[in-house]
Amino acid sequence: MDNPLDLGSLRAAFSGRLLDNTDDMAPFLTDYRGRFTGRALAVVLPDSATDVAAVVRWCATHRMAVVPQGGNTGLVGGGVPNETGQSVLLSLQRMQRVLEIDPLNNTLTVQAGCILANVQEAARKANRLFPLSLGAEGSCTIGGNLATNAGGIQVLRYGNARDLCLGLEVVTADGHIWNGLRSLRKDNTGYDLKQFFIGSEGTLGIITAATLKLYPQPAAQMTAFAAVPTAFAALKLFELAQRRLAATLTAFELLDAECVDVIERNSPCRKPLQVDSPFYVLLESSDPTSAERATENFQALMEEAMETGIVSDAAVATSLSQSDSFWALRHHVAEAQAREGENLKHDISLPISRIPQFIEEARAAITAKDPSLRIISFGHMGDGNLHYNISPRRGADAAEYASFRAGEKKLSALVYEVVSCLNGSISAEHGIGALKMSDNARYKTALELRLMADIKRALDPQGVFNPGRLFPVEQPANNATRS
Ligand code: FAD
Repeated sequence: MDNPLDLGSLRAAFSGRLLDNTDDMAPFLTDYRGRFTGRALAVVLPDSATDVAAVVRWCATHRMAVVPQGGNTGLVGGGVPNETGQSVLLSLQRMQRVLEIDPLNNTLTVQAGCILANVQEAARKANRLFPLSLGAEGSCTIGGNLATNAGGIQVLRYGNARDLCLGLEVVTADGHIWNGLRSLRKDNTGYDLKQFFIGSEGTLGIITAATLKLYPQPAAQMTAFAAVPTAFAALKLFELAQRRLAATLTAFELLDAECVDVIERNSPCRKPLQVDSPFYVLLESSDPTSAERATENFQALMEEAMETGIVSDAAVATSLSQSDSFWALRHHVAEAQAREGENLKHDISLPISRIPQFIEEARAAITAKDPSLRIISFGHMGDGNLHYNISPRRGADAAEYASFRAGEKKLSALVYEVVSCLNGSISAEHGIGALKMSDNARYKTALELRLMADIKRALDPQGVFNPGRLFPVEQPANNATRS
């Protein structure tokens, strides 16, 4: 047997596809936001499920952990290893092949390292739509999307990554390849095994391929950017849009005034309205059959919203490029905010009807603690998902940032208490990873945590996959060094 610190047979099997030089490994070992940096024995770049299985078997034999990584765009530090150096990072970035497309069955099968934008493009070439869409789509992978059950901007109409997946191929903890690439809408033959792996954040198995649902390309898309006087007015607009547009309503995003100001200060994007307003809504409809009907319904909606005072002003895009410029505003939030310094992010889920109450109560709690703090809230309101970010005042000095950092946990606790009182969740779409483990342990019930631990033990008894992520797992008895 190889010495655990000697890569031996793994190096031989993955010649040219194994990195163990510090500089070569560095980009894989720090997360997207630079908050988590880990260590690894090596980074391995497999080409196939058979390769992945070989890595998993080697790691199981040598008591090394396996950390799967896709595009490394995750925002909770789940795709980078811990600090022990007792892990092999398994990057799926070479596994990019489109394996099969069946337009009549509306399905597409791809390897897990396929970049989301390329999956969308493959669907488009077959005159179909793969509707998962998020800001990181140019870098994130379908395997990462499924492992985090990603959401994005069209969940309202098409669901999360989970809802878009019909089948999976997975490498299990004992190095077997489970071929569950079924393309069936109905299959009641016992436990739906793929659901264990979707949203498991790389802690139960490695997703190596997926069969995905496709939809018809929409015949017409209508986009509007609307000013609304209150968060409650945004809720009324949502209700009206659902009534008027029914299933053609595909996106309903909220941005507060501070958020739009930050974007305008730090990016080339400008809001398409002259007025300033406390809140803005970006909404879109996608009609699968008729451009005329789409225009008519959308215009009727906006007219009623203006007449009833729900909307104080609105711009409706008259071209695709105008619609893209509205969306650019939304997609620039994270980057624009990062330019103004650090911020404390929360990705919360609430019953949609409670969003205005949350906004009011959370602001009261935060400003009571420190009135100089800035709150930026935006997100997928139609899914009940807000990104609720807090930062120090503009122009804060190093000492203020240090004190802000020191108080982060208390600020998050204030936010999460309001979320919890309103029956919400502390993670809507980004997951738990390394960042929210203790918060998750606090807000999930003891029974939920025990059932999760039971599933982990059943599927990964040695604790090979992604240790110390999602929840602190029991470590294998013969590897005391893993955290
Ligand atoms: P990684 O970051 O590489 O990994 C994420 C997790 O999945 C890790 O725990 C990792 O171990 C695991 N994993 C990765 N690949 C596999 C695999 N093949 N098998 C098993 N486990 C695996 N998220 C949203 O949901 N909605 C958004 O709107 C959204 N917007 C974003 C915008 C920006 C600008 C950025 C930077 C991120 C955004 N995200 C969003 C977060 C992120 O893009 C998603 O979580 C995405 O699904 C991660 O995919 P990835 O390939 O980058 O995964």
